[in-house]
Amino acid sequence: MWLLDVQDLGEPDADLTTALTLKNGNPVYALSEVERAAIHAVYALYEAMLGQPDPGLRPAALDAVRQFMHDAYSQVQIGGRLEDLRARILASTQACPYCGFGEVKDLDHYLPRGTYGELAIYPRNLVPSCGPCNNAKRAVYPGMPAAQGPGLIHAYFQLLPDEDFLHADVEFDADGTLSVTFRVDSPGMDPALAAKLQFQLDRLKLNARYRAQVNKYLSEQRTAMLMLHGAGDAIFSEFLQRSSAALAASYGRNDWRVALLRTLAADPAFCAAPEAYLGLPV
Ligand SMILES: [Zn+2]
Repeated sequence: MWLLDVQDLGEPDADLTTALTLKNGNPVYALSEVERAAIHAVYALYEAMLGQPDPGLRPAALDAVRQFMHDAYSQVQIGGRLEDLRARILASTQACPYCGFGEVKDLDHYLPRGTYGELAIYPRNLVPSCGPCNNAKRAVYPGMPAAQGPGLIHAYFQLLPDEDFLHADVEFDADGTLSVTFRVDSPGMDPALAAKLQFQLDRLKLNARYRAQVNKYLSEQRTAMLMLHGAGDAIFSEFLQRSSAALAASYGRNDWRVALLRTLAADPAFCAAPEAYLGLPV
């Protein structure tokens, strides 16, 4: 969750040619050598800026090309000539980096192609995401007016501190219902980064969307948890801690499941009587 390995570039120059050429070999737009070099310079600047906005990403030299590049993204859609590029990026992760559970079906333009047409087919501007996250993110772009929020982190380029910053607050209702709220809290973290991560949780409505995931996850774990609880509260708490650490190795220490188990392991009420919240063994 949150981050992905940096995307392979593949062959951006060949992709550029393919995107701007029809199947019969005729150009959609005859790119000059100057324009081609300017696009590569934009790609290099995007790397240097770690994907963040910069006026140099919309150079005047590309004013004539921008709309064609924007439209060329259709070649990255299913059935397009760059469909392989799409498949490669989607295959690079098991789950959406924005929510940590959704199936990746969409490519999100981190910098929107409506503004940055030059970057419409650049692999490192294309973040694999699930439909709900992509839809919720759509109106958010880096560089938007500050009053609208700080924007989202870049899944390929953001550096995150190696500490636990995602916390799960768990409440147990009298009827045994468990409600979980995730929040970002890290005293040592740059406040601007913390605000960005919290904005991401809020903007993508993750707390509402995690509700069903938490129920599903705990019901899958129920039998193992209740059996382990038979060995005593302390062993059970240790089991939850170790499970959290094992998941952190796969999904990152600030994955929602890791945060949830970390909280449950430290919760005396849950460790004393998990059956009150998880039901009886089946
Ligand atoms: Zn998602």
